[in-house]
Amino acid sequence: MDVGENVRWLDRELTYREVRLEHREAAPIIGKLWAFRWDDDIYFVKVGFWKKLKLKLFGRVYIGHIERPEWRAPLPIYLLKCGEHGYYVDYPHGYTQYFECPRCLQETKAELRRR
Ligand SMILES: [Zn+2]
Repeated sequence: MDVGENVRWLDRELTYREVRLEHREAAPIIGKLWAFRWDDDIYFVKVGFWKKLKLKLFGRVYIGHIERPEWRAPLPIYLLKCGEHGYYVDYPHGYTQYFECPRCLQETKAELRRR
């Protein structure tokens, strides 16, 4: 699942743009439209004014439920911002409902391997 997927579009000035998303990375595309990736699938969601404000204030905002074949039921997906790596998505984990940035997670794993 390490292979990134490119999302291409034309912006308002009709300039060709492209973003490469790894697993669980998210990016604003155009207007309210955002894209995120989960495994090999790209999802598009609308992130309007209030959601953007919530993201800014609380560092997280609910953007919808998604279904995955490996899950027993659809899970709530949140858009979050990592201070180091930028936007990503996740569902709340465990009793404390925590979220993990995929890149931070990779770095922690790499760090543990080096020891
Ligand atoms: Zn991070």
